[in-house]
Amino acid sequence: MIAKLPGLRTVLLAIASLVMGGPALAAKIAYYDATYRATFKPGVEHAQVELELNGARLPSKLVLRVDSKRYRNFRSNQPLEVGDHEVVWRPQGKRSTLSYEFAVNHQRSSGGYDSYITQDWALFRGDKLIPSTRVTAPRDLHSRTTLQFQLPKGWSAVTRYAASGEHSFRIEDSKRRFVQPVGWMLIGKIGVRSERIHHVTAVIAAPEGESARRQDALAFINWNLPKLLEVFPDFPKRVLIVSAGNPMWRGGLSGPASLYVHADRPLISENRTSPLLHELVHVALGIRGDNESDWIVEGLAEFYSIQTLRRSGGISQKRYEQAIEHLNKSARRAPTLFAKNSTGPTTARAVLVFQQVDVEIRSLTGGAKSLDDVARKLAADRGEVSLIQLQEIAQQVAGKPLRSLQRERLMKPLAEPGP
Ligand SMILES: [Zn+2]
Repeated sequence: MIAKLPGLRTVLLAIASLVMGGPALAAKIAYYDATYRATFKPGVEHAQVELELNGARLPSKLVLRVDSKRYRNFRSNQPLEVGDHEVVWRPQGKRSTLSYEFAVNHQRSSGGYDSYITQDWALFRGDKLIPSTRVTAPRDLHSRTTLQFQLPKGWSAVTRYAASGEHSFRIEDSKRRFVQPVGWMLIGKIGVRSERIHHVTAVIAAPEGESARRQDALAFINWNLPKLLEVFPDFPKRVLIVSAGNPMWRGGLSGPASLYVHADRPLISENRTSPLLHELVHVALGIRGDNESDWIVEGLAEFYSIQTLRRSGGISQKRYEQAIEHLNKSARRAPTLFAKNSTGPTTARAVLVFQQVDVEIRSLTGGAKSLDDVARKLAADRGEVSLIQLQEIAQQVAGKPLRSLQRERLMKPLAEPGP
């Protein structure tokens, strides 16, 4: 029911706009063009980025949140204050431009890169290329945003957004007045394949020569995504999956409607989990933990990675039980669930907690509800999640508070043996 509310709201709005004269309402919003131009050269670590604003009225102030290690040489003909953490820009007149340089390469503390450029390709996140920006503008003034890449000959670009021209992407987000490009992006000599699976267009891309497994991955998604969509019907309409080899980080990382997995990672690993499905669940959920709740985010991703494989027949019941056995062993090394970052043993224990939550909800509701209903609600709410929120949603679904989510139980070491 709750998941249907946005639909109902749209209908009501449509009725309201008919009554009140829709076009007149719509005409109240004024637009200006925001064009991001990003210029890349083969193997050159700094990309040149320009933001051009064009329109009868422009925002009075833009504040870019920056990390001085990744951005340099901010320039504009309009007033500009460059600090270590913030850049304040005050556009003037009908056309204003701001430019800067972005360091593409970025190494994680664990060693591998999560952003990298070579002679032939570059892989990075749009929300790093373009720092997140707060805009001061009248409420009725909205951006019409475009991202354009200026690329070497023979290079092309793929993002979570469908192309609107050569190397050009219209960035749309009806929830924001100032829209910025986000999510993973791959440019260069690349191979791209896409397929429509129910309402989702899945796009798989990798640098040429590293793209041999694109077909396998697409077949794998074809097989599994329908099961995931049953739990998460509001999954993004277009999802981009990028992969590349060393020196990129040897793991998986999700972003808005997009994800990265290292090219060497198997579709299903020895312990019966799938790095690709794990990241797809992150995309579906769109949640992040508060300072102690990463276990909720990682536990659900891993739970639905294994569950989806089981539901699709990707792994048998016996192999599923082996996976749970494996998690049980690992979980004993996690004294508590509450930590800033959920690593292997903590996530393993979190999966077991969600398994118990699922069983408890099914038993309390006579099989009418399950953890799926909780996960679907979390995905609809998105944003930051805490144990209290999880407990509340689970209680709404089950009709009473769950024993399996009592804080005291989650803080104690696992009883030996079993739950
Ligand atoms: Zn994860």
